[in-house]
Amino acid sequence: MKKTLLPLLLAALTLAHGTAGAWGFFGHRTIAQVAVYELPSAMQAFYYRHMAEIVAQSTAPDERRNDDPTEAPKHFIDMDHYSEDDPFGKMPRQYDKATEKFTADTLKKYGTVPWVIIEMKDNLTEAFRQRDTLRIIKYSAELSHYVADAFVPLHTTINYDGQLTDQKGLHGLWESQLPERFINDYKLDGEPAKYVKDPLTAVWEVIQQSYGFLGETFDRASKIEKVMKPDVRYTFAHKYGKTTRRFSDAFADAYEKGVGGMVDFRLKGAPTLVSSLWLTAWQDGGKPDLGPMMTPSKPSKDEKEKLATELAAWKKNTLPQDQLLLAQQKAKKVETVDEIKSAKDMAAPPAEETEPTPAEAPAPAEAATPASAPAPATDKVKVKTKSKAGSEKTKQKATKLEW
Ligand SMILES: [Zn+2]
Repeated sequence: MKKTLLPLLLAALTLAHGTAGAWGFFGHRTIAQVAVYELPSAMQAFYYRHMAEIVAQSTAPDERRNDDPTEAPKHFIDMDHYSEDDPFGKMPRQYDKATEKFTADTLKKYGTVPWVIIEMKDNLTEAFRQRDTLRIIKYSAELSHYVADAFVPLHTTINYDGQLTDQKGLHGLWESQLPERFINDYKLDGEPAKYVKDPLTAVWEVIQQSYGFLGETFDRASKIEKVMKPDVRYTFAHKYGKTTRRFSDAFADAYEKGVGGMVDFRLKGAPTLVSSLWLTAWQDGGKPDLGPMMTPSKPSKDEKEKLATELAAWKKNTLPQDQLLLAQQKAKKVETVDEIKSAKDMAAPPAEETEPTPAEAPAPAEAATPASAPAPATDKVKVKTKSKAGSEKTKQKATKLEW
């Protein structure tokens, strides 16, 4: 089956890849914020001082996807392109070895997220070494984004939006609709940050776990489709002159019962790796004293109290209920001087809470910086792949696409 499917899947891919940033803005912001709470005290005051900026910038990679053709492939890696049976056994972990085996062009086409994460971690390490506050903020936010993307199962497959199994819209359902709708039920009290000896291996483990969740991600939706009539499954929204279709709340509620635990598990796991890589970059960058880099250098009484309140709510899993998630505060935006100035001359675009328009074509990306971490052992852990039912559907859809 694979032989006949591949060209069809490739054809479908050219129609589609590069859409939908993982987690939506809500998830990315939440992950960046929670990561701050997981930091050790030597770093936390600095990060808390800049938390609003880091949270705001955590969506920048998705926001520039439409303008920067090299951006899209940095957010995913389609493991099933390389093999449906044992992709993790076939893919070398290190960038150099992976390009040798599959060519840089192929890696660009099917995604480079693991190596982009390492590139961002190295950039952050250098920013700490230089004691460059602006870059520390920038790369902390960017690292947070790409790490968060790696936690989303649908970022590890060519069928990233369910488009090949007649489940289009699954991406937005999983990563935006569910977290936004059920955040009050989710637990965000993840583990504290820890030094990561081998970041590349840690990142690959996350991608392998994400891939392992794909079976459930598709199967649970298929099960609901069997019992829910098509006219109940979807709702249509008209926004800015465009009509979009998304899964209905009824479908979301049913899907949450099946995969909500998984979404929560990934949403809670991501900040721990984010904060751990921030900590690792700081240590590798010579553990600079962050106090003197703050002005004023000590947290105010007000800052301390606010942080204590937020930490307590985070530990009790009441951040959303207490309205303490910055992602919930839609109107608040950090304004730069330029924005304030330019706002006088032009009408403010309604862009703040708008997801970026999906980029249509798979754009050629510039090569990710080769990762310099030592090569981890290529372990052949068996992962769950798509169900038989899913594959059958793929075939049907792919045939349609060929026409
Ligand atoms: Zn993304």
